[in-house]
Amino acid sequence: MTVVRSGAASDVGRVRSVNQDLALRTPNLFAVADGMGGHVGGEVAAKVAVDTLRTVFARQSSTDALERAVSEANAAVWSQSQARNDLRGMGTTLTAAALVVGGDGRDMVALANVGDSRAYLYTAGRLTQITVDHSLAEEKVHYGELTEAEAAVHPHRHILTRALGVSSGVEVDLWELHLRTGDRLLLCSDGLTNEVPEPQIAQVLASVPDPAVVAEQLVRAANDSGGNDNITVLVVDVLVGDDDVATTDVIEPRRGSGGKGLPAAATATGLAAGVGAVSAGTVVVGTDPGLTGMTPSVSGAADPAGGGGELPAAPPTAAPPAQSPAQSPAEDGAPPVPRRAPPVRTETRSERRRRLGVPRRITFRVVGFAILLAAVVAAGYFLVRWYATDNWYVTTQNGELVVYQGRPGGLLGFDPKVVDRTGVKTSGVLAIHLRSLKSGVEEPSLKAARHYVATLQQEFFAQQLINNPPTTVPPPTTVPPTTAPPTPVTAFHMPGAATRAVV
Ligand code: MG
Repeated sequence: MTVVRSGAASDVGRVRSVNQDLALRTPNLFAVADGMGGHVGGEVAAKVAVDTLRTVFARQSSTDALERAVSEANAAVWSQSQARNDLRGMGTTLTAAALVVGGDGRDMVALANVGDSRAYLYTAGRLTQITVDHSLAEEKVHYGELTEAEAAVHPHRHILTRALGVSSGVEVDLWELHLRTGDRLLLCSDGLTNEVPEPQIAQVLASVPDPAVVAEQLVRAANDSGGNDNITVLVVDVLVGDDDVATTDVIEPRRGSGGKGLPAAATATGLAAGVGAVSAGTVVVGTDPGLTGMTPSVSGAADPAGGGGELPAAPPTAAPPAQSPAQSPAEDGAPPVPRRAPPVRTETRSERRRRLGVPRRITFRVVGFAILLAAVVAAGYFLVRWYATDNWYVTTQNGELVVYQGRPGGLLGFDPKVVDRTGVKTSGVLAIHLRSLKSGVEEPSLKAARHYVATLQQEFFAQQLINNPPTTVPPPTTVPPTTAPPTPVTAFHMPGAATRAVV
């Protein structure tokens, strides 16, 4: 016969506006869920998970039934998240403790965990974390990449590697515990453990007999330390336990990550003061089929009225379920050994894709980035090309004035090209211009360049006239003029230009 009483408290904290945590207290099933995702997704995920857990477990009380109930809770959350767009991506942690009859016919506690809510055992003045957080930081601790102290402040400590409702299936960590009189189980969300150090939690557990008061004090302590997250605490006290076992170090991880640590020994002392203070949720466990008919309570706060009074013990009415060799309990007192293969690190999606040689998926983000990059490159190309070609200059080539389009010497692969061979020889240009012409005289357009060449020609011929003034033809003297004497005219021809007259 096992008799327990429980108390719970939950609070939104001092930062969040909504409490997405949920505690479940029934006579034989206790759980804490910490929902996540979206505006309402976290609340929905936690409630769907807890409701499903309670309903499924009520059909049969056993460790296997608890595992099945957690799996069905996962399926229920996953199903709803797929059915409603506003709930897509929601999920929840779930840590559950169930009072069951073990394969040996003795009462025991089955413990299941997914996520980073935690279960602790407080026995003989010692607090031991049973569950292992399914977080990125804890994985690094597991593989020796971080110490516990480093993990406690690691930026990835909140990133979950496993949660309920985020995929169609989930791996559940399971333990079985034989609890002795005076032991205390603590289930809590990370809103407590991120704010309150374990020594302080242990001090409260050691000094406060009533589990409901313990829960309230721990929630208050988390709020006093910041209250950065929702806080939920559930305490289960063993008033009458399985004192046939010498110690409580019979924590047997049935599946999953194993325990954080095992208490060396437990005594029946320590919480004796609490035993007499039966006030809430006191039940006889696993021996009375009528227990399944008791009204369960889902509570977000301590319930001083409790879930029911103490019930008389009765012998088990059903034969213990058949055991497989893999499930047989330790009989020789040897240290507990995981009954199934130790967990392997879950392969990430990218690792799996690399291993299978699956090419990286092209997402809208990748396509968008490629288009943006192409646009930037194209814009840069056209800008440079425009700058390199929007220019003309006059220079000399093989003794002739030519007009180039482009920048003298070229720019970033855009070489200048000849667009006009003027036919004007360098000998037809004043010497003072030749030096600058060899370097190239820039003009803003082809028309301007041609005008510059024409100006050079005019200048040259004007200089020629100054240097060599034309001779005036005298009027004939032998023949008397019959008309007005002709005006003396000097004419010259400028190559490439209309004939001009100078009077
Ligand atoms: Mg939380």
